[in-house]
Amino acid sequence: MGEPSDRDTEALRTRARERMRQGRLPHSKAARTWGGLGSGLPCDLCDAAILSSEPEFELQLDLSAPSQSVRLHRQCHSIWNEVREEYSPANDWRSADEQPPPPGALVEARLSLGGTRSVILNVICLKEPSAPSSSWINATTGGPLPEGWRPIEWRYLSGAKAESAAQPSDSSLPKRA
Ligand SMILES: [Zn+2]
Repeated sequence: MGEPSDRDTEALRTRARERMRQGRLPHSKAARTWGGLGSGLPCDLCDAAILSSEPEFELQLDLSAPSQSVRLHRQCHSIWNEVREEYSPANDWRSADEQPPPPGALVEARLSLGGTRSVILNVICLKEPSAPSSSWINATTGGPLPEGWRPIEWRYLSGAKAESAAQPSDSSLPKRA
């Protein structure tokens, strides 16, 4: 089996979307992925056997259920990965002034430290009816933000997804893990 043509790839992407909808392919990243050569068993995306001459990806979805695994050709694995990313809900940066996060939600915010410096921090926005504006607390320490730190934009924390999510263009900024 050579590299799939563009048309094949498109058909496989459609099939990956269907199978994810049907629950036959996972929506989330695998708990563990093994690479190796095929064992002759069918691929969970294209249904063709993964031959012993071809690379095979085996995804373990749940570490407590080792028998539940998904096998994919290398190309099928990358197609599934692409489709899976399309499925992730949009998690764009939003303006902290125009569209503040829901009160009490733990979010990641980019804060201006004054001048051109900024930092990304996990914060919680609290909206008190009496307060003139929202107040923000540092979710890590539970304390208020230092004087002069001002949230510019924020987005939801996305757990495992955050690892693979595209970094903002200013990724050279200091970022707290
Ligand atoms: Zn395949």
